[in-house]
Amino acid sequence: MAKHQFQTEANQILNLMIHSLYSNKEIFIRELVSNASDALDKLNMLVLTDDKYKEVTFSPRIDIVANKEAKTLTIKDSGIGMNEEDLMSHLGTIAKSGTKAFLENLTGDQKKDSNLIGQFGVGFYACFMVAHKVEVTTKKAGEEQAFLWTSTGDGEFDVENTTQDGHGTTIVMHLNDEEAEFLEAHRIETIIKKYSNHIPFPIFMDKDKFIPAVKDDDGKETEPSRTEIENVQINRANALWTISKSEITDEEYKDFYSSIAHSSEEPLAWMHNKAEGAIEYTTLFYIPNKAPMDMFRVDYQTGIKLYINRVFITDDEKELMPTYLRFLRGVIDSKDLPLNVSREILQSNAVMNKIKNASVKKVLSELSKIAKNDSEKYDKFFAEFGNVLKEGLYSDFGNREKILELMKFNTINSTETVMIEEFVKNVDEEKKEIYYITGKTSLSMLKSSPALERFKAKGIDVLVLNEEVDTIIFPMVTEYKEYKLVHVGDAKFEESEEEKKAEEEVAKSYEGLAKEFKDALGDRVKSVETTSDLVDSPVKLKEDKEDPAYMMAQMMKQMGQ
Ligand code: ADP
Ligand code: MG
Repeated sequence: MAKHQFQTEANQILNLMIHSLYSNKEIFIRELVSNASDALDKLNMLVLTDDKYKEVTFSPRIDIVANKEAKTLTIKDSGIGMNEEDLMSHLGTIAKSGTKAFLENLTGDQKKDSNLIGQFGVGFYACFMVAHKVEVTTKKAGEEQAFLWTSTGDGEFDVENTTQDGHGTTIVMHLNDEEAEFLEAHRIETIIKKYSNHIPFPIFMDKDKFIPAVKDDDGKETEPSRTEIENVQINRANALWTISKSEITDEEYKDFYSSIAHSSEEPLAWMHNKAEGAIEYTTLFYIPNKAPMDMFRVDYQTGIKLYINRVFITDDEKELMPTYLRFLRGVIDSKDLPLNVSREILQSNAVMNKIKNASVKKVLSELSKIAKNDSEKYDKFFAEFGNVLKEGLYSDFGNREKILELMKFNTINSTETVMIEEFVKNVDEEKKEIYYITGKTSLSMLKSSPALERFKAKGIDVLVLNEEVDTIIFPMVTEYKEYKLVHVGDAKFEESEEEKKAEEEVAKSYEGLAKEFKDALGDRVKSVETTSDLVDSPVKLKEDKEDPAYMMAQMMKQMGQ
């Protein structure tokens, strides 16, 4: 037997599971079942695609056994299993970069924190919330040696050789005295129905079955009623996305979300779509209620699972959906992709690209429907994900117009945000210019910028964009339909002869003063001039955009200098 230390980060997470995360303990079942399901998915794919696994007899199933005397709960799968190396690296260290994010994101609020467990791929450790000892017996498909991994969650684990018929993994949890509820069949069944009803493999468990008394013709009891133990399937195991929409209840959609998103929160919306024709595929996408914690990290986890004709392929492929839709959770399933598809093939595969493009269009049009039909829901969506969606304005040129139509804008004249289709109704039909101002500052500060004075005086509305990303994105967005987007600093207004004359006169009469200013400021400014841009403010600073020094400064800023 060999003793091993948990890696420091793994230990930190273990401690957290044991000592601080007490609410919502039931999710340990969801996490272990989800691992079992992943292990079945992996073997399923190998059996179908890899000659090495041709000989493996594979009958995918998960079994749950509760032993009240021994106070143990066992979850067993006939999946891929683990060899010694797998055990050491998967159940002892946490190699994934998500872990750090997990630890950084802990809030101390138990409900929120326990929601993070599955999101960050530290699910296995959840069993230590309820167990003081865990034994994992496992044998990898196609290999000879089985192993037993044991830990009491106190910083160490053991690995030793053992024997096992067939491949797969069995996890035995010795439950703490106060966790006896997890040995009750009906409690387990409720949890499975809630979180794992629609994983694509069957889960079996022993249940008491009531056999009524047998009576003869006179009504005399010949055999008393009794209970019999029956091993039954407790989940539906029907890959939900394959069922037709009309047969799925809202509850089922929500339950499925909780199993694939590892979340106990309800989704904000979902979109289920079956495409038939040249390419057949099904997508089921969910919009979460809250932004995933790692949404603005480069190493964010993707939320889309790719299946090929119900065979799981990957959930770690960032190319499946554009990054500006990275908040989506869900499934893409197609019959028309080759099963042995590799990552490289996937990225350049014409069918995959078609599915991707059509899916993006579908998602955008569904979002637009929500915006039109349920503005309250849309506002919630936009508050959480608006800034991510906005990235699409520069990364997805082909859909720019649609994405622009999904934006909610602050403007000078409106107290609530407006959408661009509304906004253009008030744009001068001859000039067809949409003016905007950007600046990373508060909305009220930006709204009172001197650069807006002449617009206010003329009664022209302006988009007020005060997010940092706006300053980078909007200079690149130059058009919307037949309209031009023009920065307020670049707006030019026709002046009548009289106005021009008046301005020249003003300039002349202040020539002396302007010169005095210039002399006083010296090289700190390029020139001092009078302007008709301002109405209330006495002066403003204006950048000379043609000046190479200015352009250099802007470039440095964009590169984050
Ligand atoms: P995640 O599932 O997000 O990878 P977990 O902490 O739940 O994170 O599991 C860690 C790893 O342990 C899994 O990725 C997998 O490689 C391995 N593992 C866990 N349970 C099983 C199982 N039942 N069969 C095979 N491998 C498993
Ligand atoms: Mg897991």
